[in-house]
Amino acid sequence: MTVDIVTMGEMLIDFVPLKKGLALKDNEGFLRMPGGAPANVAVGTAKLGIKSAFLGKVGADPFGDLLIDTLRENSVNVEGIVQSNKAKTTLAFVTLDEKGDRDFTFYRDPGADMLYDWDEVNLKLLKKARVFHHGSISLIDEPVRSTTLRMAETANDNGLIVSYDPNLRIPLWPDLKQAEKWIKEGLKTADLLKISEEELEFITGESSLKKGARRVMAEYNVKLIFITLGAEGSYFYNGLTEGMVSGFKVNAQDTTGAGDAFTAGILAQLINEDIDDLSRLDNITLKEMLKFSNAVGAITTTGKGAISSLPNLKSVRKFLKK
Ligand code: ADP
Repeated sequence: MTVDIVTMGEMLIDFVPLKKGLALKDNEGFLRMPGGAPANVAVGTAKLGIKSAFLGKVGADPFGDLLIDTLRENSVNVEGIVQSNKAKTTLAFVTLDEKGDRDFTFYRDPGADMLYDWDEVNLKLLKKARVFHHGSISLIDEPVRSTTLRMAETANDNGLIVSYDPNLRIPLWPDLKQAEKWIKEGLKTADLLKISEEELEFITGESSLKKGARRVMAEYNVKLIFITLGAEGSYFYNGLTEGMVSGFKVNAQDTTGAGDAFTAGILAQLINEDIDDLSRLDNITLKEMLKFSNAVGAITTTGKGAISSLPNLKSVRKFLKK
């Protein structure tokens, strides 16, 4: 079976508070939400009608089974997911502030997702895809770091578009110098980069979007960069043209997964339109792509958790018509 996009890396269960403003000390319920950034992108693209597969590792435990079932139910190919008898599935407890922004406490010691080994990679699926997407959490530890970087090189060598989301979670990295080093390692193979303002500043030292984007392009082989700006929308630059597209006004409940939803929107359009040459995309096309992806992100913030709030193509079209 062929797939259009392969995503890989962390896959975990988030425990999300039932309402905004709850702290861990509050004795109220949590909803359990399957997720992890690359798993969200796999489901996000599948919901937009793309053939997607997830490659990675979970525990041979009920949480791992739940993750695999969730992806399968959302039409993601799960042939390349392995289950570990040695390590458990990662868990994360989320807190939501009044604005719906979140903070995480992870249970990963290490989690099965960090133990994903190169000889467990389903290379047949990887090599046949058109896009490979990954994020930096999988650069935190070995062996998954080497596995990720080798998968990105393999994707490059086989002509896939390599999409990268640094997904920096400062509290997760024991050493920020190390984080910088590994994120830069991820950038070496990236064709397409989705990044937040904070991450851009962390990597380049630039607080200006324009200067930061130019610096990334000058130092790496990145061909297209997207900067997500929360409710404000997003910005793009591909060396040829740049622009900013405003976000949609929605009643955000939980922003978990908004960035992944945005990425899924971009990747689904690249695949659907058969776009290979990222540096030649013109301003109008890129603005259309961002508008669509901002909508996918905005819709995702209106529900709790990530995977359960990701929209299908029909609901994005309906939202855009409003
Ligand atoms: P990340 O999770 O990577 O930091 P953002 O939070 O910036 O990403 O969200 C990605 C995209 O989702 C934004 O560019 C925007 O289009 C949309 N989005 C996020 N938060 C909101 C919000 N509160 N209202 C409307 N759209 C939002």
